[in-house]
Amino acid sequence: MPETPVDLRSDTVTRPTPAMRAAMQAAEVGDDVFQDDPTVHRLEARVAELLGKEAALFVPSGTMSNQIAVKVHTQPGDELICDVNCHIYNYEAGGPAILSGVTCHTLHGEDGILDVTQLEDTIRPDDDHQVRTRLVCLENTHNRGGGRIYPIEKIQAIRAWTRQHGLILHLDGARLWNAIVATGIPAKQWGDLFDTVSVCFSKGLGAPVGSALAGPREAIVRARRVRKLFGGGMRQAGVIASAALHALDHHIERLADDHRNAQTIAQAIADTPGLRLVPAEVDTNLIWFRVAREMGTAKEMALALKERGVLVHAAGPQTLRACTHLDVSAAQAEFAAETIRRYVPKSVPVARLQPSK
Ligand SMILES: *Cc1c(COP(=O)(O)O)cnc(C)c1O
Repeated sequence: MPETPVDLRSDTVTRPTPAMRAAMQAAEVGDDVFQDDPTVHRLEARVAELLGKEAALFVPSGTMSNQIAVKVHTQPGDELICDVNCHIYNYEAGGPAILSGVTCHTLHGEDGILDVTQLEDTIRPDDDHQVRTRLVCLENTHNRGGGRIYPIEKIQAIRAWTRQHGLILHLDGARLWNAIVATGIPAKQWGDLFDTVSVCFSKGLGAPVGSALAGPREAIVRARRVRKLFGGGMRQAGVIASAALHALDHHIERLADDHRNAQTIAQAIADTPGLRLVPAEVDTNLIWFRVAREMGTAKEMALALKERGVLVHAAGPQTLRACTHLDVSAAQAEFAAETIRRYVPKSVPVARLQPSK
Protein backbone atom coordinates (compact mmCIF):
# COMPACT_ATOMS: atom_id res chain seq x y z
CA MET A 1 0.00 0.00 0.00
CA PRO A 2 1.37 3.46 -0.90
CA GLU A 3 2.29 5.86 1.89
CA THR A 4 -0.10 8.50 0.60
CA PRO A 5 -3.37 7.24 -0.84
CA VAL A 6 -4.20 7.77 -4.50
CA ASP A 7 -6.88 10.44 -4.14
CA LEU A 8 -9.47 10.09 -6.90
CA ARG A 9 -12.36 11.67 -4.98
CA SER A 10 -12.35 14.87 -7.02
CA ASP A 11 -10.19 16.91 -9.37
CA THR A 12 -10.34 19.68 -6.76
CA VAL A 13 -7.99 17.91 -4.31
CA THR A 14 -4.83 19.07 -6.11
CA ARG A 15 -2.26 21.13 -4.24
CA PRO A 16 -0.49 24.05 -5.88
CA THR A 17 2.83 22.97 -7.40
CA PRO A 18 6.07 24.63 -6.23
CA ALA A 19 6.16 26.63 -9.49
CA MET A 20 2.58 27.79 -8.92
CA ARG A 21 3.42 28.82 -5.36
CA ALA A 22 6.43 30.74 -6.67
CA ALA A 23 4.16 32.58 -9.11
CA MET A 24 1.80 33.43 -6.23
CA GLN A 25 4.71 34.64 -4.11
CA ALA A 26 5.87 36.93 -6.90
CA ALA A 27 2.42 38.29 -7.84
CA GLU A 28 1.99 42.03 -8.16
CA VAL A 29 -1.15 42.99 -6.29
CA GLY A 30 -3.53 45.85 -5.49
CA ASP A 31 -7.05 46.26 -4.14
CA ASP A 32 -9.24 44.61 -6.77
CA VAL A 33 -12.45 46.14 -5.40
CA PHE A 34 -10.83 49.45 -6.44
CA GLN A 35 -9.86 47.65 -9.67
CA ASP A 36 -6.23 48.19 -8.73
CA ASP A 37 -4.88 44.65 -9.00
CA PRO A 38 -2.75 44.29 -12.13
CA THR A 39 -2.56 40.49 -11.89
CA VAL A 40 -6.35 40.17 -11.75
CA HIS A 41 -6.57 42.49 -14.76
CA ARG A 42 -4.12 40.28 -16.65
CA LEU A 43 -6.09 37.14 -15.80
CA GLU A 44 -9.42 38.69 -16.78
CA ALA A 45 -8.01 39.95 -20.10
CA ARG A 46 -6.45 36.56 -20.78
CA VAL A 47 -9.68 34.63 -20.14
CA ALA A 48 -11.74 37.06 -22.22
CA GLU A 49 -9.31 36.70 -25.10
CA LEU A 50 -9.16 32.92 -24.87
CA LEU A 51 -12.94 32.64 -25.00
CA GLY A 52 -13.40 35.38 -27.60
CA LYS A 53 -15.34 37.64 -25.23
CA GLU A 54 -15.15 41.39 -24.56
CA ALA A 55 -14.56 41.01 -20.84
CA ALA A 56 -14.22 38.59 -17.95
CA LEU A 57 -14.58 38.72 -14.17
CA PHE A 58 -12.49 36.77 -11.65
CA VAL A 59 -14.68 35.22 -8.93
CA PRO A 60 -14.06 32.92 -5.95
CA SER A 61 -15.90 29.83 -7.21
CA GLY A 62 -17.68 28.18 -10.11
CA THR A 63 -20.88 28.28 -8.15
CA MET A 64 -20.65 32.04 -7.76
CA SER A 65 -19.76 32.44 -11.42
CA ASN A 66 -22.81 30.47 -12.58
CA GLN A 67 -25.13 32.16 -10.11
CA ILE A 68 -23.90 35.61 -11.07
CA ALA A 69 -24.67 34.68 -14.68
CA VAL A 70 -28.19 33.54 -13.78
CA LYS A 71 -28.78 36.81 -11.89
CA VAL A 72 -27.37 38.98 -14.68
CA HIS A 73 -29.50 37.32 -17.35
CA THR A 74 -32.85 37.14 -15.55
CA GLN A 75 -35.54 38.90 -13.53
CA PRO A 76 -37.42 37.28 -10.62
CA GLY A 77 -40.24 35.20 -12.09
CA ASP A 78 -38.17 34.07 -15.06
CA GLU A 79 -37.31 30.48 -15.90
CA LEU A 80 -34.14 28.83 -17.09
CA ILE A 81 -33.92 25.58 -19.03
CA CYS A 82 -31.25 23.01 -18.15
CA ASP A 83 -30.46 19.32 -18.00
CA VAL A 84 -31.90 17.60 -14.93
CA ASN A 85 -28.48 16.47 -13.70
CA CYS A 86 -26.60 19.72 -14.22
CA HIS A 87 -24.51 21.45 -11.57
CA ILE A 88 -26.48 24.71 -11.59
CA TYR A 89 -29.69 22.88 -10.67
CA ASN A 90 -28.32 20.16 -8.35
CA TYR A 91 -25.17 21.32 -6.66
CA GLU A 92 -25.50 25.04 -6.10
CA ALA A 93 -27.74 24.99 -3.03
CA GLY A 94 -30.84 26.16 -4.86
CA GLY A 95 -29.11 29.31 -6.11
CA PRO A 96 -31.47 30.13 -8.97
CA ALA A 97 -34.48 30.07 -6.62
CA ILE A 98 -32.83 31.75 -3.65
CA LEU A 99 -30.58 34.33 -5.30
CA SER A 100 -32.49 35.17 -8.46
CA GLY A 101 -36.12 34.08 -7.92
CA VAL A 102 -35.81 31.91 -11.01
CA THR A 103 -37.41 28.51 -11.60
CA CYS A 104 -35.62 25.70 -13.42
CA HIS A 105 -37.28 23.78 -16.22
CA THR A 106 -35.32 20.53 -16.31
CA LEU A 107 -34.99 18.29 -19.36
CA HIS A 108 -33.62 14.74 -19.41
CA GLY A 109 -30.44 14.83 -21.43
CA GLU A 110 -28.47 11.81 -22.55
CA ASP A 111 -25.54 11.78 -20.12
CA GLY A 112 -26.38 15.43 -19.58
CA ILE A 113 -26.37 16.30 -23.28
CA LEU A 114 -29.51 17.98 -24.63
CA ASP A 115 -30.71 17.78 -28.17
CA VAL A 116 -32.35 20.85 -29.68
CA THR A 117 -35.52 18.81 -30.38
CA GLN A 118 -36.01 18.54 -26.60
CA LEU A 119 -36.00 22.32 -26.30
CA GLU A 120 -38.65 22.91 -28.92
CA ASP A 121 -42.03 23.61 -27.29
CA THR A 122 -40.43 24.53 -23.95
CA ILE A 123 -40.90 28.28 -24.37
CA ARG A 124 -43.76 29.58 -22.27
CA PRO A 125 -46.43 31.60 -24.00
CA ASP A 126 -46.87 35.25 -23.02
CA ASP A 127 -49.50 34.55 -20.38
CA ASP A 128 -50.12 36.03 -16.90
CA HIS A 129 -50.19 32.51 -15.41
CA GLN A 130 -46.74 31.55 -16.53
CA VAL A 131 -43.13 32.26 -15.82
CA ARG A 132 -41.08 33.83 -18.57
CA THR A 133 -38.57 31.62 -20.39
CA ARG A 134 -35.35 33.54 -20.52
CA LEU A 135 -32.16 31.49 -20.34
CA VAL A 136 -30.71 28.12 -21.37
CA CYS A 137 -27.75 26.69 -19.41
CA LEU A 138 -25.49 23.93 -20.76
CA GLU A 139 -22.58 22.14 -19.04
CA ASN A 140 -19.39 21.05 -20.84
CA THR A 141 -17.92 18.68 -19.92
CA HIS A 142 -20.89 17.30 -18.04
CA ASN A 143 -19.94 16.20 -14.52
CA ARG A 144 -22.92 14.01 -13.69
CA GLY A 145 -22.98 12.86 -17.30
CA GLY A 146 -19.65 11.12 -16.71
CA GLY A 147 -17.39 13.90 -17.95
CA ARG A 148 -19.20 13.85 -21.28
CA ILE A 149 -18.06 16.27 -23.98
CA TYR A 150 -20.90 18.21 -25.59
CA PRO A 151 -20.75 17.50 -29.33
CA ILE A 152 -20.21 20.97 -30.77
CA GLU A 153 -22.85 20.41 -33.48
CA LYS A 154 -25.44 19.94 -30.74
CA ILE A 155 -24.46 23.28 -29.23
CA GLN A 156 -24.54 24.95 -32.65
CA ALA A 157 -28.11 23.73 -33.14
CA ILE A 158 -29.13 24.93 -29.68
CA ARG A 159 -27.44 28.30 -30.28
CA ALA A 160 -29.38 28.76 -33.53
CA TRP A 161 -32.58 27.93 -31.71
CA THR A 162 -31.94 30.29 -28.77
CA ARG A 163 -31.10 33.09 -31.24
CA GLN A 164 -34.28 32.47 -33.17
CA HIS A 165 -36.31 32.77 -29.95
CA GLY A 166 -34.39 35.60 -28.27
CA LEU A 167 -33.15 33.43 -25.41
CA ILE A 168 -29.78 33.75 -23.68
CA LEU A 169 -27.32 30.85 -23.64
CA HIS A 170 -24.88 30.32 -20.75
CA LEU A 171 -22.18 27.69 -20.46
CA ASP A 172 -21.09 26.12 -17.20
CA GLY A 173 -17.61 25.36 -18.46
CA ALA A 174 -16.07 24.29 -15.15
CA ARG A 175 -14.26 21.60 -17.17
CA LEU A 176 -14.32 23.24 -20.60
CA TRP A 177 -10.51 22.86 -20.59
CA ASN A 178 -10.92 19.09 -20.65
CA ALA A 179 -13.26 19.31 -23.66
CA ILE A 180 -10.78 21.62 -25.42
CA VAL A 181 -7.87 19.22 -24.93
CA ALA A 182 -9.87 16.09 -25.73
CA THR A 183 -11.35 17.48 -28.97
CA GLY A 184 -8.70 19.94 -30.12
CA ILE A 185 -11.48 22.51 -30.63
CA PRO A 186 -10.09 25.82 -29.30
CA ALA A 187 -11.68 27.76 -26.45
CA LYS A 188 -12.86 30.57 -28.74
CA GLN A 189 -14.85 28.22 -30.92
CA TRP A 190 -16.81 27.02 -27.89
CA GLY A 191 -17.01 30.54 -26.44
CA ASP A 192 -18.46 31.99 -29.65
CA LEU A 193 -21.55 29.83 -29.19
CA PHE A 194 -22.55 31.31 -25.83
CA ASP A 195 -23.51 34.69 -24.39
CA THR A 196 -21.59 33.98 -21.19
CA VAL A 197 -19.13 31.27 -20.20
CA SER A 198 -18.02 30.25 -16.73
CA VAL A 199 -14.67 28.47 -16.36
CA CYS A 200 -12.91 27.06 -13.27
CA PHE A 201 -9.22 27.15 -12.42
CA SER A 202 -9.57 24.95 -9.34
CA LYS A 203 -10.60 21.70 -11.04
CA GLY A 204 -8.32 20.08 -13.59
CA LEU A 205 -6.11 23.15 -13.87
CA GLY A 206 -4.96 22.68 -10.31
CA ALA A 207 -5.19 26.23 -8.94
CA PRO A 208 -6.18 26.47 -5.28
CA VAL A 209 -9.21 28.68 -5.92
CA GLY A 210 -11.02 30.72 -8.52
CA SER A 211 -13.28 30.83 -11.54
CA ALA A 212 -14.12 33.41 -14.17
CA LEU A 213 -17.22 34.57 -16.00
CA ALA A 214 -16.68 35.85 -19.54
CA GLY A 215 -19.14 37.68 -21.76
CA PRO A 216 -20.14 40.99 -23.33
CA ARG A 217 -18.66 44.04 -21.53
CA GLU A 218 -22.06 45.33 -20.52
CA ALA A 219 -22.99 41.99 -18.88
CA ILE A 220 -19.64 41.77 -17.08
CA VAL A 221 -20.07 45.29 -15.67
CA ARG A 222 -23.37 44.16 -14.18
CA ALA A 223 -21.73 40.89 -13.07
CA ARG A 224 -19.17 42.87 -11.07
CA ARG A 225 -21.99 44.57 -9.16
CA VAL A 226 -23.69 41.21 -8.52
CA ARG A 227 -20.37 39.73 -7.35
CA LYS A 228 -20.24 42.47 -4.71
CA LEU A 229 -23.84 41.75 -3.72
CA PHE A 230 -23.03 38.04 -3.34
CA GLY A 231 -20.03 38.87 -1.15
CA GLY A 232 -17.41 38.00 -3.73
CA GLY A 233 -15.51 41.28 -4.04
CA MET A 234 -11.86 40.45 -3.29
CA ARG A 235 -8.97 42.71 -2.33
CA GLN A 236 -5.36 41.64 -3.14
CA ALA A 237 -6.72 38.83 -5.29
CA GLY A 238 -3.62 38.85 -7.50
CA VAL A 239 -2.15 36.30 -5.10
CA ILE A 240 -4.70 33.75 -6.30
CA ALA A 241 -5.17 35.13 -9.82
CA SER A 242 -1.46 34.46 -10.40
CA ALA A 243 -2.08 30.77 -9.65
CA ALA A 244 -4.83 30.75 -12.28
CA LEU A 245 -2.55 32.46 -14.82
CA HIS A 246 0.17 29.93 -14.08
CA ALA A 247 -2.37 27.12 -14.60
CA LEU A 248 -3.46 28.57 -17.97
CA ASP A 249 0.19 28.66 -19.06
CA HIS A 250 1.26 25.25 -17.79
CA HIS A 251 -1.64 22.95 -16.95
CA ILE A 252 -3.96 22.85 -19.95
CA GLU A 253 -2.13 20.54 -22.36
CA ARG A 254 -1.28 18.11 -19.59
CA LEU A 255 -4.99 17.36 -19.13
CA ALA A 256 -4.39 14.77 -21.87
CA ASP A 257 -2.42 12.80 -19.24
CA ASP A 258 -5.45 12.84 -16.95
CA HIS A 259 -7.60 11.54 -19.78
CA ARG A 260 -5.13 8.71 -20.46
CA ASN A 261 -4.95 7.83 -16.78
CA ALA A 262 -8.74 7.81 -16.59
CA GLN A 263 -8.80 5.20 -19.37
CA THR A 264 -6.47 2.97 -17.32
CA ILE A 265 -8.82 3.07 -14.35
CA ALA A 266 -11.97 2.83 -16.48
CA GLN A 267 -10.65 -0.31 -18.16
CA ALA A 268 -10.16 -2.00 -14.77
CA ILE A 269 -13.72 -1.09 -13.78
CA ALA A 270 -15.10 -2.32 -17.11
CA ASP A 271 -13.23 -5.62 -16.65
CA THR A 272 -14.47 -6.19 -13.09
CA PRO A 273 -17.68 -8.15 -12.63
CA GLY A 274 -20.03 -6.36 -10.25
CA LEU A 275 -18.81 -2.93 -11.34
CA ARG A 276 -20.29 -1.05 -14.27
CA LEU A 277 -19.22 2.20 -15.91
CA VAL A 278 -22.14 4.62 -16.23
CA PRO A 279 -21.89 5.92 -18.88
CA ALA A 280 -19.97 3.05 -20.47
CA GLU A 281 -17.52 5.35 -22.24
CA VAL A 282 -15.19 7.71 -20.45
CA ASP A 283 -14.56 10.86 -22.52
CA THR A 284 -12.31 12.84 -20.18
CA ASN A 285 -11.12 12.66 -16.55
CA LEU A 286 -14.30 11.65 -14.71
CA ILE A 287 -15.17 8.01 -14.17
CA TRP A 288 -18.64 7.32 -12.84
CA PHE A 289 -19.49 3.73 -11.97
CA ARG A 290 -22.02 1.60 -10.16
CA VAL A 291 -21.53 -1.30 -7.78
CA ALA A 292 -23.99 -4.22 -7.94
CA ARG A 293 -26.27 -4.38 -4.87
CA GLU A 294 -25.22 -7.90 -3.95
CA MET A 295 -21.67 -6.62 -3.50
CA GLY A 296 -22.66 -3.95 -1.02
CA THR A 297 -23.14 -0.21 -1.11
CA ALA A 298 -21.07 2.52 -2.70
CA LYS A 299 -19.97 3.61 0.78
CA GLU A 300 -18.74 0.09 1.59
CA MET A 301 -16.90 -0.10 -1.71
CA ALA A 302 -15.28 3.29 -1.10
CA LEU A 303 -14.20 2.13 2.37
CA ALA A 304 -12.76 -1.17 1.06
CA LEU A 305 -10.75 0.73 -1.56
CA LYS A 306 -9.65 3.30 1.01
CA GLU A 307 -8.21 0.53 3.17
CA ARG A 308 -6.11 -0.40 0.14
CA GLY A 309 -4.87 3.09 -0.57
CA VAL A 310 -7.37 4.33 -3.16
CA LEU A 311 -9.86 7.09 -2.38
CA VAL A 312 -13.02 7.38 -4.48
CA HIS A 313 -16.20 9.34 -3.87
CA ALA A 314 -19.45 7.55 -2.97
CA ALA A 315 -21.85 9.80 -4.84
CA GLY A 316 -25.07 7.82 -4.35
CA PRO A 317 -26.29 4.56 -2.75
CA GLN A 318 -24.71 2.44 -5.52
CA THR A 319 -22.87 5.15 -7.44
CA LEU A 320 -19.21 6.12 -7.22
CA ARG A 321 -16.99 8.65 -8.92
CA ALA A 322 -13.25 8.58 -9.53
CA CYS A 323 -11.39 11.56 -11.03
CA THR A 324 -7.92 11.84 -12.42
CA HIS A 325 -6.02 15.10 -12.03
CA LEU A 326 -2.68 16.86 -11.70
CA ASP A 327 -1.73 14.96 -8.53
CA VAL A 328 -2.38 11.48 -9.97
CA SER A 329 0.57 10.05 -11.89
CA ALA A 330 0.38 7.28 -14.48
CA ALA A 331 1.89 4.92 -11.89
CA GLN A 332 -0.77 5.88 -9.36
CA ALA A 333 -3.51 5.30 -11.94
CA GLU A 334 -1.99 1.86 -12.59
CA PHE A 335 -1.97 1.19 -8.87
CA ALA A 336 -5.65 2.17 -8.59
CA ALA A 337 -6.54 -0.02 -11.58
CA GLU A 338 -4.59 -2.97 -10.15
CA THR A 339 -6.25 -2.51 -6.75
CA ILE A 340 -9.68 -2.63 -8.34
CA ARG A 341 -8.81 -5.73 -10.37
CA ARG A 342 -7.39 -7.61 -7.40
CA TYR A 343 -9.69 -6.67 -4.58
CA VAL A 344 -13.10 -6.35 -6.12
CA PRO A 345 -13.85 -9.99 -6.86
CA LYS A 346 -17.16 -11.10 -8.21
CA SER A 347 -20.03 -11.43 -5.75
CA VAL A 348 -17.98 -11.05 -2.57
CA PRO A 349 -19.73 -8.48 -0.44
CA VAL A 350 -17.16 -5.74 0.01
CA ALA A 351 -18.09 -5.42 3.68
CA ARG A 352 -16.72 -8.94 4.18
CA LEU A 353 -13.40 -8.31 2.44
CA GLN A 354 -10.56 -8.53 4.92
CA PRO A 355 -8.87 -5.24 5.61
CA SER A 356 -5.34 -5.17 4.26
CA LYS A 357 -2.37 -4.87 6.64
C1 LIG B 1 -17.23 22.11 -9.58
C2 LIG B 1 -18.23 22.56 -10.57
C3 LIG B 1 -18.74 23.87 -10.54
C4 LIG B 1 -18.35 24.92 -9.54
O1 LIG B 1 -17.94 24.48 -8.34
P1 LIG B 1 -17.25 25.34 -7.20
O2 LIG B 1 -16.89 24.27 -6.25
O3 LIG B 1 -18.26 26.28 -6.71
O4 LIG B 1 -16.06 26.05 -7.77
C5 LIG B 1 -19.66 24.21 -11.50
N1 LIG B 1 -20.03 23.34 -12.44
C6 LIG B 1 -19.55 22.11 -12.51
C7 LIG B 1 -19.97 21.22 -13.62
C8 LIG B 1 -18.63 21.66 -11.57
O5 LIG B 1 -18.17 20.41 -11.64
